[in-house]
Amino acid sequence: MANQEEIKKVELQFNQEIEKIGQESDLEQLRIKYLGRKGLLTMMLRSLKDMPLEQRKVIGPMANKLKETFEHHLQIKKEELKAGGEIKQSIDVTRPGKKINLGHLHPLSIVLRQVVDIFNGLGFAVAEGPEIETEYYNFDALNLPAEHPARDMWNTIWLDGSKSQNQKERLLLRTHTSPVQIRYMQSHKPPVRIISPGQVFRFEATDQTHHFQFWQLEGLMIDEDINLGHLRYIIEAFLSRFFGRKIQSRFEPSFFPFVEPGLQFSISCPFCKSKGCSSCQKLGWLEMGGAGMVHPQVLRNVGYDPKKFQGFAFGLGLDRLAMHKYHIPDIRLFYNGDLRFIRQFKL
Ligand SMILES: [Zn+2]
Repeated sequence: MANQEEIKKVELQFNQEIEKIGQESDLEQLRIKYLGRKGLLTMMLRSLKDMPLEQRKVIGPMANKLKETFEHHLQIKKEELKAGGEIKQSIDVTRPGKKINLGHLHPLSIVLRQVVDIFNGLGFAVAEGPEIETEYYNFDALNLPAEHPARDMWNTIWLDGSKSQNQKERLLLRTHTSPVQIRYMQSHKPPVRIISPGQVFRFEATDQTHHFQFWQLEGLMIDEDINLGHLRYIIEAFLSRFFGRKIQSRFEPSFFPFVEPGLQFSISCPFCKSKGCSSCQKLGWLEMGGAGMVHPQVLRNVGYDPKKFQGFAFGLGLDRLAMHKYHIPDIRLFYNGDLRFIRQFKL
């Protein structure tokens, strides 16, 4: 009659024997030896009925489990032998190999990495912040109090239930990456030299050049003697490296509540040397983004002394940079997940 030790012995023996088998006919012999009508394991199972109930309860499941295991191993070995045989017959070293599909970066990720690289080289660190922001960080701290008409410039997406909360705590999807400036300045003393790339959200219809979700790149530099000349240098140095040719910038007055003076900047078209082409709509200049000297009230809001420190901030669209660089005609292509588009950017 079988006991636990015997079962283990049979298992060990089976494992050693199956290892050595090299052809299918031997495998069949092995099956008969263990699982045939008079096989070792078959006999054990048959002896179960003569066992006392207590012993049967232990040995029964063990032996049945082992039967399943043996059958499984035999099956696997059979397939292995079959496959090995086929390989021997059909290997043809001149046949082209199977193409391996590797994943690769999204064009926006490629551009983001280039941008971070260039700014690291100019001495800027990368700061990040949450995409779900409070009303305070998105607006108030940036010099846009509750009833300020300039709030209409940003078509805000509010989060469910947020209307009933304390006004400063109300939640929204950030409409720009500027709140990261505030969070960073609150926790760091000047000098400050950061960029904060990230996704932002606006409640607006999509078309060729607009999307409700897009990437912004924000830059901030604060120190004791910073002026607009530094801003211009940084913008031109960055974009010249990004496009791989000398870029000139052009600044015009504009309005953003968190800068004074506020500016809008364009760059000489990198594709036609300002002669006019389809990229710049024959203007010779490409609109790039907004900028300005950080408003003294914003500096006060984070505990900086505006008499001692000043600096510039700028923001531009990463999507637009990528569209210019790769001549992509429609911003929606970045977000619709169409692999036929994305596969074109393998580097
Ligand atoms: Zn052009």
